[in-house]
Amino acid sequence: MEVLVLGSGGREHAIALKLAESNKVTHVYVAPGNGGTAKSHDKVSNLDFDAVDLPKLLAFANEHKIELVVVGPEAPLVVGAVDTFAAAGFPCFGPTAAAARLEASKAFSKDFMARHGIPTARYGNFTKYEEAVAFVESADFPVVIKASGLAAGKGVLLPTTKAEALAGLKEIMLEKAFGTAGDEVVVEQYLEGEEASVLAFCDGKRVVLMPGAQDHKRALDGDMGLNTGGMGAYAPAPILTPAIRAKAQAILQRTVDGMAAEGSPYQGVLYGGFMVSKEGEPVVLEYNCRFGDPETQVLLPLLDSDLAEVFLACIEGRLSPEIVRWKALAASTVVMAAKGYPEAYPKGMVIEGLATVQASEDGQAGRVTVYHAGTKTGAPGEVLANGGRVLAVTGLGRDIADSLAKAYAAVRLIRMDPCHYRTDIGQRALRGPCPLRVGVLGS
Ligand code: AMP
Repeated sequence: MEVLVLGSGGREHAIALKLAESNKVTHVYVAPGNGGTAKSHDKVSNLDFDAVDLPKLLAFANEHKIELVVVGPEAPLVVGAVDTFAAAGFPCFGPTAAAARLEASKAFSKDFMARHGIPTARYGNFTKYEEAVAFVESADFPVVIKASGLAAGKGVLLPTTKAEALAGLKEIMLEKAFGTAGDEVVVEQYLEGEEASVLAFCDGKRVVLMPGAQDHKRALDGDMGLNTGGMGAYAPAPILTPAIRAKAQAILQRTVDGMAAEGSPYQGVLYGGFMVSKEGEPVVLEYNCRFGDPETQVLLPLLDSDLAEVFLACIEGRLSPEIVRWKALAASTVVMAAKGYPEAYPKGMVIEGLATVQASEDGQAGRVTVYHAGTKTGAPGEVLANGGRVLAVTGLGRDIADSLAKAYAAVRLIRMDPCHYRTDIGQRALRGPCPLRVGVLGS
């Protein structure tokens, strides 16, 4: 079976490598891919097509008799990649554009949650600036202000004063800081708690959870600095106890039931971004309609099943928990970014040490994998930095501490100048009230 994967990040590298493990899969094409998908596996190669260039992708799929299409990021979902491929008869993993509104429109998703009794922060949706201002003027503080549309993870403001909130509304709604994504805004109550991600495979009716994960949004140690796409992640996250997972599962099931009832059955990965209260109640902050990045880089290495089989089971409406088996291990990933990210950063740095990691005992045993995100190939044998988040270095271990030790040992073998990574990935899990070993991190 030849597979086409759309996207170019660490997430897509992780999806491609997991698919390549399948006996059924003969080749994985990644469009457009990156320096990792270009050469880290014999069965994986790149296509120089944009992930939203649907006519070109469809022509390629027809020519090569592609038997499975997997959509990685949100942009192609929202422009209807799944609708296009499905209409042409290709099995395609991911939600339709109508179902992907859960992510594409925060206003839609808030109203959807209200219609279906799904716990979420109190909110108001506004298309008129004056009405949003009046709401903020009379709201209990603190509030959160969100551009409703897709804003590459940047459209959420957490103002600390009313004046800041009003300035934020002006920026989004009048000055169009996030373009048309800010034509509508959601103003919602600020929630206290700890964030955690629960991702599930869905086949339109059923929901099968993946291990719980936590990522690290802020750029700097101690959760300081600017928000980023994610600087690291680990799974299974101890905060997601069986009781909390059961509640999250019920919420995601109600979501899938609600989408089916409204005529937009949900097939693909449904990612619930939760705030877990002190009392252990998960409340939905947002939905994503795809794998998270970097959560995928810790979740897929834990999957024991054939990923192609799981995708086909979702597409064909025959998903069951028996099909989705997990290894009794833990995984952590450390993102190595270009220094300066998420603001201006340099590109083109030569990345050294990748072969050393691969040749190391953990690299050989598959306990460490370096997923590429913003990279491209240079001169023969050379890999160059080509983005903000450059690599995600994943360690697989018997527990979180062990997996972190492996990931950081590999990070120390890789050189890229100038580079930045957080040194405290996973520390929250190690500190928490959980039965994990502490303190194997080293320097
Ligand atoms: P979102 O894209 O909606 O998940 O928002 C991005 C980030 O903003 C989240 O990961 C949270 O850290 C924060 N955030 C969003 N909504 C809230 C809320 N209601 N209360 C507290 N923090 C929030």
